[in-house]
Amino acid sequence: MLTISSSCPRCLQPHTTLQLAYADPDRPGIPAPAFRETAFRCAHCQQLVLVTVMTPQNRYLGPLDAHGKPAPRGDIAKVDGIEVRQILPEMPKNNAPEHCPVQVSKAFLDGAANLEQARWTAAASCYRMSIDRASKLLWQESCQDDMPHNLWKRIEKLSSKIEMPNSLVRWAEVVKTVGNEMHELDDVSEEDARDAAHFAEVFLTYMYTLPERLAQFRARRTPPVAEAQNLLGELKNMTGAQMSAFVTKVESGHP
Ligand SMILES: [Zn+2]
Repeated sequence: MLTISSSCPRCLQPHTTLQLAYADPDRPGIPAPAFRETAFRCAHCQQLVLVTVMTPQNRYLGPLDAHGKPAPRGDIAKVDGIEVRQILPEMPKNNAPEHCPVQVSKAFLDGAANLEQARWTAAASCYRMSIDRASKLLWQESCQDDMPHNLWKRIEKLSSKIEMPNSLVRWAEVVKTVGNEMHELDDVSEEDARDAAHFAEVFLTYMYTLPERLAQFRARRTPPVAEAQNLLGELKNMTGAQMSAFVTKVESGHP
């Protein structure tokens, strides 16, 4: 099967596989076109995307079928003489804070799209959803006890369990679309929607972007000697079984 390794413009899943679902067939008596319209299906969300594939004549070096015609298989990037020209729909511009989980980014981007179209209630509800999803994921990662159903209470309780500034909790309380239940909000004003957008951006940046950037910074700045000393300390305390598991990990390239 012919596949494309790409992010999916439908579900925004990064690094997924798109699998060939349909290719415009050759028309009898007409030379095979250099450009071919095809449909690929996302392995993650199962939705279709339209892909224009270019197969320049005489340059194709991939597998052939029983009639000697090109029958490309596997990752398209590895087949000589065939290339992807365009994938539709295009990937939406990702303005969500970096390093957010996909489902959080997706709700945030829906919020931004609604805000751009002046759909204030829809925008606020999407931004609220991005915070709701993020707080649920953070809860699952860090807490064992029952999760509060109410969004603001969840954020407040989270702040006692994970690193979160108190000012962020107090801010969440006064953002109308976060501090109240959505059904309590009759109609959301432009100001409310923009408040929700602003809060969501800061909340997600604090919870996802900054910790990841800090981790990357630390990894970059850890002096090699200190790293080696740490490793040596760990190795000294390992049992034989732990040591062989460690060696297997290193050999597999995922230490
Ligand atoms: Zn998808």
